[in-house]
Amino acid sequence: MQHTGGCMCGAVRFNTTGEPSRVTICHCTWCQRRTGTAFGTEVVFSDGQVEMTGGEIARYRHISDESGRWLEVAFCRRCGTNLGFTLEAVPGVRTLPAGAFDDPAWITSDRYKFRHVFLKSRRDWSDLSPHVEQYERHFRS
Ligand SMILES: [Zn+2]
Ligand SMILES: [Zn+2]
Repeated sequence: MQHTGGCMCGAVRFNTTGEPSRVTICHCTWCQRRTGTAFGTEVVFSDGQVEMTGGEIARYRHISDESGRWLEVAFCRRCGTNLGFTLEAVPGVRTLPAGAFDDPAWITSDRYKFRHVFLKSRRDWSDLSPHVEQYERHFRS
């Protein structure tokens, strides 16, 4: 199973192989800021499943206020498109934002486990389906 995606300007492309382990929809204030919207929608893969190509990948390492551990976001240096992140807390995992796939139609809640986390900072203008797993904080905490 292969899927492709990339940034708005086309300078960065990615390919994934195999199935993602889950989809995490994160309502934390960090994800609100990095995406500029109500939540981040992260398709979760292991490092080896994701190949990124193109010379314009930029990275920014953020230290979490809460845990003190790093999260590193990837984005296109040219157009700024969000290209997911890696995190110190879960080595070997890399996420890709659902909306950056060329055709996100395969990412469905009947096929994959969807979890909504950090509902403690959910905005009342983001509505939740009652059919998904929901956590006030992360499912690891
Ligand atoms: Zn770009
Ligand atoms: Zn988050």
